[in-house]
Amino acid sequence: MYEASALYSGGTMDAARLVLSGEYDTAFNVAGGLHHAMANRAAGFCTFNDLAMGIYELLRTVDRVAYIDIDVHHGDGVQALFYDDPRVMTISLHESGRYLFPGTGFPDETGEGDAAGTSINVPFYPYTTDEIWHEAFDAVVPEALERFAPDALVVQLGADAHWDDPLAHLMLTSQGWMAAIDKLLALGASKPVVVTGGGGYNLRTVARLWTMVQARCAGAQLPDSVPAAYDAMYNIPRLHDAPEATPRVEDAVLREARAYAREQVALLHAALR
Ligand SMILES: [Zn+2]
Repeated sequence: MYEASALYSGGTMDAARLVLSGEYDTAFNVAGGLHHAMANRAAGFCTFNDLAMGIYELLRTVDRVAYIDIDVHHGDGVQALFYDDPRVMTISLHESGRYLFPGTGFPDETGEGDAAGTSINVPFYPYTTDEIWHEAFDAVVPEALERFAPDALVVQLGADAHWDDPLAHLMLTSQGWMAAIDKLLALGASKPVVVTGGGGYNLRTVARLWTMVQARCAGAQLPDSVPAAYDAMYNIPRLHDAPEATPRVEDAVLREARAYAREQVALLHAALR
């Protein structure tokens, strides 16, 4: 475990060095993103917090780093490590801690001391769909980044907010999830951006989503179809979800999820005021 953890941590530190070198705009460490690890203990499948190590590596050269986490679980370890550090803004969009591990990540967790206002949390109700998720993202993330004016970004792209993840209950499609990646990369345009993986427990989905991230970071266009031999072996016929595959969420649940997201965004804006 020590060797594997040191390897993924070094990967994120290398990614930070690569984007600081100016040679690359983005660097993707698919094995990184272990956001639950604390300074003095492992937690939630995470031994070392590579994200914090990558952020510290960036801070050797730049003044301000923004961390954005779209994993379905709250990015509690990264938040805790920089909760009182005004050089780092942490933003986490996740399924509410009322329903899911680690049980934290509410709008009133906004940072402390000089760092007040640099910890941002958007919790979602179970069965939140693309439209509701993106409405909250648009209401919070661009404005927060504009206010903080970071020099570099670290983004954690857990694949577990996808609807078929067995550990959580959000309903993002591959199309909705990749739309978030597009927005994040656009917000980081002209800045160094470190990209990592994160959680993801349906391995067929993880392979699809992170393949698309890799291509997007490299500026490559991939066809949606997957080579037949690979499909035969892993039963992955295409990269994106088939539209008919996504389960429908009942209207009453959708109303609940939309109202919850809007309430949490309002609470966040009030807490930051
Ligand atoms: Zn997760």
